[in-house]
Amino acid sequence: MYGEFQKYLSDELASIEAAGLYKRERNIASAQSAEITLEDGSKALNFCANNYLGLADNPRLIEASRKIMDTRGYGMSSVRFICGTQDMHKKLERAISEYFHTEDTILYASCFDANGGVFEPLLSAEDAIISDALNHASIIDGVRLCKAVRYRYANADMEDLERCLKEAQAQRFRIIVTDGVFSMDGNVAPMDRICDLAEKYNALVMVDESHSAGVVGRSGHGVAEQYDCYGRIDIHTGTLGKAFGGAVGGFTTGRKEIIDMLRQRSRPYLFSNSLPPMIVAAAIETFKMLSESDELHTRLQNNVDYFRDRMIEAGFDIKPTQSAICAVMLYDAPLSQKFAAKMAEEGIFVTGFYYPVVPKGQARIRVQLSAAHKREHLDKAIAAFVKVGKELGVIK
Ligand SMILES: *Cc1c(COP(=O)(O)O)cnc(C)c1O
Repeated sequence: MYGEFQKYLSDELASIEAAGLYKRERNIASAQSAEITLEDGSKALNFCANNYLGLADNPRLIEASRKIMDTRGYGMSSVRFICGTQDMHKKLERAISEYFHTEDTILYASCFDANGGVFEPLLSAEDAIISDALNHASIIDGVRLCKAVRYRYANADMEDLERCLKEAQAQRFRIIVTDGVFSMDGNVAPMDRICDLAEKYNALVMVDESHSAGVVGRSGHGVAEQYDCYGRIDIHTGTLGKAFGGAVGGFTTGRKEIIDMLRQRSRPYLFSNSLPPMIVAAAIETFKMLSESDELHTRLQNNVDYFRDRMIEAGFDIKPTQSAICAVMLYDAPLSQKFAAKMAEEGIFVTGFYYPVVPKGQARIRVQLSAAHKREHLDKAIAAFVKVGKELGVIK
C-alpha cells in the first residue's frame, strides 16, 4: 500500500516546493534571544520571534525552572483531574486571574488546546459563534469542533459584526470571538466597540490574547486594559509561549462558571497531560516579575516607537501598528521573499509574507520587536532595511 501513498505524498510535496511554499527550519545553536547563533556558527539578530518581553532566556525564569525540579520533580504523568494537579498549578492559575482581573483560570498544554477546547463544552447547535475573519487557526479549528451556527465578519469591521449579531438573534446564546492583536497587520481588535455591540445585541465576548497580553495596554496587560473593558469580556484565552517566557502552555481565564464547566467537559484538559513543574514554576516567576515592574513593557514600547519612526523617516510604507508587530509593506510577493533573503544575508532575521497568508497584492516583511532588542540592534536592522530597500528600489 505505501508505494502508492508515497508517490501521492512526493507529488504533493513537489507541488508545495514548486509553489515556493515549502517550509524549512533554521537550526539555532544558542538560546532564543535578540542575538542568536546558528548551527554553522554565524550570528544573526532575531526580529521574527514572539519573544515580546525578552523573557525566553531570562535568568530568573531559568533558575526558577531549575530549582523546582529538586522538590516537585520532572513530569506529572497524569492529567489534571486524575492525579496531575500540584499546589503550583493552582498558584499559577490564581496569578493569571490576577493579571487579567478575572475570576478563575484553567491551564492547557498550549493556547491551541485552549481554543480547541473552549467552544464545544459551552455551546450547542442552538447557539451562535460570531468570529473575526482573521482569527487564528486554532480558533477556527475550535469552532469546527462545536455544533453552534457560525457567522464570520470582516476583520475588525464593526458594521459587519453588527450585521452578524442581528442575524444571530435567531439563536439562543451568541458569542463574539476575536484575536486581541492580529498577527499580520499588528492591529488591535476594537474591544470597547465590540463590548458595546455585545451589550446591545446580548452576546458573550471572547478574546484570544496570544499576541496582545504583555504587549498592549498602558502596562501591557492586554486588550481589556487598553480599552478599559474590565468586567465586560467573558473569556480570554492566551499562551505562555509568546510574551510570557516563550516556553509552552496556554490558558483560558474568565467568569467562574465558564471555567468550572471547562474543567468538567473541555477535552484537551480532560485527556491531555498536565504542564510540568519546570514550566509552571517559571510561569509563576514570570507573573511575579511583571507584578513587580512594568520596565520590560516600557522598553518594548520604546523599541516599537523608535523602530517605526525611523523606518517611516527612511521612506518605508509601514502599517499603522498598535502592537509589537510592524508590517513593512512591499505588496509584491517575489519581492518580499527576495527582501527577506537579503536581510538574512545582512544578519537580520525577518519574515516575508505573501498570499495566501495575507491578501493578494499585500506582501510584506513582518518585523517583531522585543524588549530584548538593544538600541544598537534596532539601528543595525534599520541600516540593513535601508541598504536592501535601496538595492531593490523600494526606497530612494
Ligand atoms: C500563537 C497563537 C496561538 C497558539 O498558541 P500556542 O500556545 O503556541 O499553542 C493561539 N492563538 C493565537 C492568536 C496565537 O497567536
